Amino acid sequence: MRMTKAFIPTLRSTPAEAEIISHQLLLRAGYIRKSAAGVYTYLPFAQRVLKKIEDIIRDEMDKAGGQEVLLPIIQPAELWLETGRWHVYGEEMFRLKDRHDRDFCLGPTHEEIITDLIRGEVNSYRQLPLRLYQIQNKYRDERRPRFGLMRGREFIMKDLYSFDKDEEGLETSYQKMYQAYTNIFTRCGLKFRPVEADSGAIGGNVTHEFMVLAENGEASIVYCDDCDYAANIEIAPCQPVEIGNEKEDIKPLEKVHTPNVRTIDEIVKFLNVNPQKCIKTLFYKADEQVIVVLIRGDRNINEIKLQKVHPCYSLELATEDEVRDITGCKTGFIGPVGLKEVPIYADLEIKNLVNAVSGANEDHYHLVNVNGNRDFEVTGFYDLRFVEVGEQCPKCKSSLKMARGIEVGQVFKLGTKYSEALNAKFLDENGKENLILMGCYGIGVTRTMAAAVEQNYDANGIIWPKSIAPYHVVVIPISIKDEDHIKNAQKLYEQLIDKGIEVVLDDRNERPGVKFKDADLIGFPIRLTVGKKTVIEGLVEYKLRTEQESIDVPIEQVVNKVLEYLNT
Ligand code: ATP
Ligand code: MG
Repeated sequence: MRMTKAFIPTLRSTPAEAEIISHQLLLRAGYIRKSAAGVYTYLPFAQRVLKKIEDIIRDEMDKAGGQEVLLPIIQPAELWLETGRWHVYGEEMFRLKDRHDRDFCLGPTHEEIITDLIRGEVNSYRQLPLRLYQIQNKYRDERRPRFGLMRGREFIMKDLYSFDKDEEGLETSYQKMYQAYTNIFTRCGLKFRPVEADSGAIGGNVTHEFMVLAENGEASIVYCDDCDYAANIEIAPCQPVEIGNEKEDIKPLEKVHTPNVRTIDEIVKFLNVNPQKCIKTLFYKADEQVIVVLIRGDRNINEIKLQKVHPCYSLELATEDEVRDITGCKTGFIGPVGLKEVPIYADLEIKNLVNAVSGANEDHYHLVNVNGNRDFEVTGFYDLRFVEVGEQCPKCKSSLKMARGIEVGQVFKLGTKYSEALNAKFLDENGKENLILMGCYGIGVTRTMAAAVEQNYDANGIIWPKSIAPYHVVVIPISIKDEDHIKNAQKLYEQLIDKGIEVVLDDRNERPGVKFKDADLIGFPIRLTVGKKTVIEGLVEYKLRTEQESIDVPIEQVVNKVLEYLNT
């Protein structure tokens, strides 16, 4: 490819709308352009990167027994009504009607469609196991599309679905996919970690997310250095931590005047108490029902855990009015004492609190010396909070660490969730009818591209891992007015092409400084500069994007040197 012909519209400055580095660099270096919030055009260099990621994925999926298919993007509502997910998916689903007023959606995922296919085609154990995958656009009307390719509304995903006759088969499929994912992200040159995760709207119970470790990751993960434990904090279990007042004598309940003291911070200052001794009371609207959560003042509520305890489609903090209807007071003064007819879910740590502080359900008053066993009743005690740095590893009791991660892939054991809903059965060896066991396995292809940039860049631009770089090499003639420069560069360019190396010849009539800047910004792994030294001494300047310094290599050795680097 000649730079004069390449469609790679680089920008001088960083577009203001781009908050994170991958978004900024992919725009600036001419890889992507936005057409609507969360909807992007992939320009030629991006398309090459995506194809390389997809090729690695295909190779590993095929090795793990996958067969590629292509499922429809437009999906009929009936299938989604059969599994009940037409409603579960809520506003995230792009819905449309055809001319006959029939409901459809743009596929956010494909469990329904593929299970429908399988129930029609598979009826015997002899046809199992089956592993089918596709690489295709997905559509999700995300609440907050942002960060460029990271959270799009139209994005590319690889999704594989496994179908097995028994648990053992499902376990084999799961392990094969887990290993394939490990191979894929390793081959893409990424630093990543598989973590235990939540199964969300997809369902099932065993699941791992593959997290690329990066500061800008939206996910928080906890991990242990002394064993292999790692989990998304959404699901990381918490043990109650004692605060050392458990032996205190129980004191009489007291109401205190606390004018305009509403937040935990304010109450801590006003009453001079430890936030650990405060009971934070939160009112939620779970679908149409109001529920109450109690958690220690210094902790954060984990809504995913809450939703497991109290299953519901939507979960939002209740409004000031809804709170007042039940308690007769403002949100700053609510507490568990005297609350009736609402489910109260308390975090495990609430059980141990002695002589705690809470709102009095009366404006400008709090209660001190609140004691659970004596002063209020709860529906139950559950693990409802986020784990924190330094808490005990649930596996080995060592101290937990925390990092940010970008979820690039997830593997799920679905079990019979979809085969049951859609009645996908087969006859086993004994002629008995059984439900098919399923798994599903997704990789965000476009998100993986963004994650690769998040992990590989410097002040000058992108540093593509060589396995997914759009081109391996850029050849830069110092002056295109000098015929000897051009001739040598052209020759080298052709020799590289002959060896199957992907190379760009920067034949633009620009100053070398401009070309070097662009080469760094675009992120070619290898830069070869041809100039006076080449003409006089037969030396080419060889520079790796990952290194600061260049070396001079005799022109006849350059191709081998490049091959050697690319093949290791
Ligand atoms: P998230 O929690 O980030 O919203 P998810 O858990 O809903 O993602 P899955 O259904 O597991 O996503 O989809 C499989 C993969 O698709 C994810 O691991 C991620 O890499 C990718 N992906 C999901 N949503 C998006 C999106 N909005 N934009 C780009 N990639 C996405
Ligand atoms: Mg996921």
